[in-house]
Amino acid sequence: MIYLDYQATTPVAPEVAVAMQPWVSEKFANPHSPSRAGHEAAAAIEVARKHVERAIGLASGSVAFTGSATEALNWALKGTVEKLEPKRNRIITLATEHAAVLDTCEWLAGRGVDLTVLPVRPDGLLDLELLERELDQRVALVAVMLVNNEIGVLQPVSEIADMAHRVGALMLCDAVQGLGRLVIPHGPDLVAVSAHKIHGPKGIGALWMRKGAEPAPFIHGGGQERGLRSGTLSPQLCVGFGAGAQLAHERCQRDYDHVCRLWHAAVEALGAGWTINGSTAHRYHGNLNIRRDGLDAARLLADLRDVAFSLGSACASGSGRPSHVLRALGLDYRQSRSSVRLGFGRYTTQRELVEACGRIAAAAKSQERLLA
Ligand code: PLP
Repeated sequence: MIYLDYQATTPVAPEVAVAMQPWVSEKFANPHSPSRAGHEAAAAIEVARKHVERAIGLASGSVAFTGSATEALNWALKGTVEKLEPKRNRIITLATEHAAVLDTCEWLAGRGVDLTVLPVRPDGLLDLELLERELDQRVALVAVMLVNNEIGVLQPVSEIADMAHRVGALMLCDAVQGLGRLVIPHGPDLVAVSAHKIHGPKGIGALWMRKGAEPAPFIHGGGQERGLRSGTLSPQLCVGFGAGAQLAHERCQRDYDHVCRLWHAAVEALGAGWTINGSTAHRYHGNLNIRRDGLDAARLLADLRDVAFSLGSACASGSGRPSHVLRALGLDYRQSRSSVRLGFGRYTTQRELVEACGRIAAAAKSQERLLA
């Protein structure tokens, strides 16, 4: 199988599996217990925390571990709203955000929050003048992702954070698809990340919080994570996340160069007749979302069962609904049904990628011949 779905999840790095192993088998202490073994587990978690904080790379803040980035985003949004001053009751976000942000914002809107979902330009980028016009003293939070999970475009996060700060609002950045792949720009007050997108284990994420911007607790209980997020931490998951973050931080440039080479090879191997969805200038190159006139993308997927690629977000792909991100770019129903996403990264070889692209192009042409 050729794996080209790096936005859905990434293969666990061998180094991560080795680091996790003792914590899966013999070391089982509760990291919050006062025993010697408990202290050892707590110390391993603190080392992991430092690695995640270093990979995020922002100053004056710290990380709390969560069960996923979805939880981190729910916490950031709901916990910030809970701390709102009465006159600040607005959240601004984008139509192309992940469901973890959009659905949480809709839930908050149902409870009285004034929600503004801004459109994006046809290249997937936010028009900063539009944001400028929308910002006022009532805005509490601006939530914008760094790298889009469906189309790979990069939003101008630092500029957005500066603009939010000028009206006294906070900025939340979903950096799930950016962590370890790019330098996270300075500016955000809250940053959500996930281990399984950086060759770590599933079931663990984190929320980075600038000092003073911590949301109100979302999960209550034993007071772990400085009273901000209760629940016994999993040493094996934290250690795995830390190992993945350390590796991603050390290899960031190398992985980035590799991904850029792969991108150019893929575009060449696909040949003519494809259009890239989203900006080609402002993007992460490990994401290639393409469309072809008349293509039945679902059939293409079914025809090439031993190539793992997708129609878009893994979360939405079971719903049968066309992608909200492609719709936000202005694509019509047929165009979004003719789009596929190829995602590649550290462990993808140029040879397998070129082979997969060749097969995708051939299968697309054979669909055209059948229709002709
Ligand atoms: N945000 C983005 C951009 C994502 O791609 C994902 C996962 O697909 C998430 C949030 C949710 O992450 P998790 O799987 O850790 O809940």
